[in-house]
Amino acid sequence: MKVEFFKHNIGDDEKASLIGTLDSLFLTTGERVRQFEKEFATYMNVRHCVAVTSCTEALIVCMKALGIGPGDEVITTPLTFAATSLAIIHAGAHPVWVDVEGATGNIDVSMIENAITEKTRAILPVHLYGQMCDMRKIREIADRYGLVVIEDCAHSLESQRDGVRPGQLSDAACFSFYATKSITCGEGGALITNCARLAEKAKCLRLHGINSGAEERYTKRYEHWDLLETGMKCNMSDIQASLLLPQIKKIDRFWERRREIYTMYEDAFYDLKKISMPRILPGSKSAYHLFTIWVAPETRDFFLSRLQDRGIGVAVHYRAIHLLTAFQRLYGKKRGDFPIAEKIGDSTISLPIYPRLTDEEVAHVIETVMFLCNSM
Ligand SMILES: *Cc1c(COP(=O)(O)O)cnc(C)c1O
Repeated sequence: MKVEFFKHNIGDDEKASLIGTLDSLFLTTGERVRQFEKEFATYMNVRHCVAVTSCTEALIVCMKALGIGPGDEVITTPLTFAATSLAIIHAGAHPVWVDVEGATGNIDVSMIENAITEKTRAILPVHLYGQMCDMRKIREIADRYGLVVIEDCAHSLESQRDGVRPGQLSDAACFSFYATKSITCGEGGALITNCARLAEKAKCLRLHGINSGAEERYTKRYEHWDLLETGMKCNMSDIQASLLLPQIKKIDRFWERRREIYTMYEDAFYDLKKISMPRILPGSKSAYHLFTIWVAPETRDFFLSRLQDRGIGVAVHYRAIHLLTAFQRLYGKKRGDFPIAEKIGDSTISLPIYPRLTDEEVAHVIETVMFLCNSM
């Protein structure tokens, strides 16, 4: 049996929606993007959404719109995809890593204050695997030191903690619609915010810094435009938005199925001595974006290899990023600097979890993991 690590959910609704867009006049940012922004903001219960081409670009646009740049420091986690820190670097600032909590893999909020200097401008938490960080505490620290908060919500579309959802306590929250995320158009991203000025500036920055969109320029009578900012080029196209629009209505159904799968795995692995799992904290609704097991570091690569031999797609989220070559070259961090992130990074294995995964496939993954545990 072959079990893919991920399968997307593009079906007949998305195909029909895409064809509708291909028959329209302009394929770039227009009516479908506006509709997506409106519906996504409504789903997230925030005032504004600005759609871009990736979560990475959304993070960069947010930082630039908030005036974060050269000389500034942004506090974030070393246990995330490299893009979180790359976005900080591309905005011109420097990432300052803070180690994570052993139970969840999220940034250890109790260590944030120690990392604050006169150069700190922002805190950039990542809600790893779909379990949210403690946003109330993060907001409280940020307010005390006059910092902004930008959330990396690439894993946490559906998350909630103590009644707080992404975008509600931060200045902005950024999402990914990359190929393996819970809704996808291959590549895509968005930021949400309750601040009208930030949303307006982000709209300008995503399209070079020009004061009107392509649609306005071509569908209305010609008017001279101006360049207000030295912006980027990362506006979402109507092609991408048309694939995402039908999926918004299915987010909760998709989540429900991932929760079922998560529970099957959790029940099966609960008593296995060789496996531990991140905790979902009381009062927390996980997005169940990834299902991750933690095994002894010296057995991790053996597990990865044997699972793939038996046809099971796997991934690693994530090896601690301060140890990656480019970041080591820039910041000179060493093994031992963030011990908990390193330990999780050396132990972690992600197993398949997505709505199209069948019960039979889940059973095959469970049996295989149990077999491997017993054969060691
Ligand atoms: C996927 C991901 C990103 C990057 O998203 P893109 O849309 O590919 O730029 C950033 N952070 C985390 C935690 C991710 O999982």
